[in-house]
Amino acid sequence: MKLSQLSSIANKIASLPSSKSRKIVEIAPSIDDLQAAVELPIGEDLNEWYAVHIHDFHNEIYLLYDSISELCTSRTCPTMSAGEKYEYFWVDAEETKQPTRVTAYEYITNVMSWIENLLENEMLFPTAEKKNFPAMFVLIVKTVLNRLFRVYAHIYYSHLDDVNELGLEFHLNTSFRHFVYFVNRFNLMKERDMEPLREEISCFMKMKGRNLYSKSIACTMR
Ligand SMILES: [Zn+2]
Repeated sequence: MKLSQLSSIANKIASLPSSKSRKIVEIAPSIDDLQAAVELPIGEDLNEWYAVHIHDFHNEIYLLYDSISELCTSRTCPTMSAGEKYEYFWVDAEETKQPTRVTAYEYITNVMSWIENLLENEMLFPTAEKKNFPAMFVLIVKTVLNRLFRVYAHIYYSHLDDVNELGLEFHLNTSFRHFVYFVNRFNLMKERDMEPLREEISCFMKMKGRNLYSKSIACTMR
């Protein structure tokens, strides 16, 4: 990746298309505020709130991973792992029906384009003024969040030094903490699926009241 690309990544993340959730995070950068930011605003439709967050998390993780993707090769990351204990196999209902071992790069690229396709599907993520979300919408949301979590987990286990060198640690931590508060608030992931980052999560959960920009908020993964 060229230097000019690297320097623009942090700016890109900071200037993602604004949505209701990001605006709150940007003006309220303490950990407590991040927690408050996931609460469903009065009058907001819950499915719409889920859709807004899926868009945000997908954008954020896409940019974070894009910044380190050249360092995530078949040599450095031959499998989609989260440390030594966890490995994820790719399953695509339409093409790869059998769980398949793929490189981390392939897995994450598949996840990103799979989510993009979902987001572009008007039947699943309607954009019309009066939105009719499908009956299985919450199931889709849970599956998307589960797969996005795995991308965070791979980055934390295998690319934290890379993220740090690029000056993106703050963005990774903020994005992940926002993600965890959101999935916990609405009970959208199973405890066992979050196990790979359990220590990281319980560490930052103890940081109530701290400013997110403080250097002292780094957690156990460092
Ligand atoms: Zn990797």
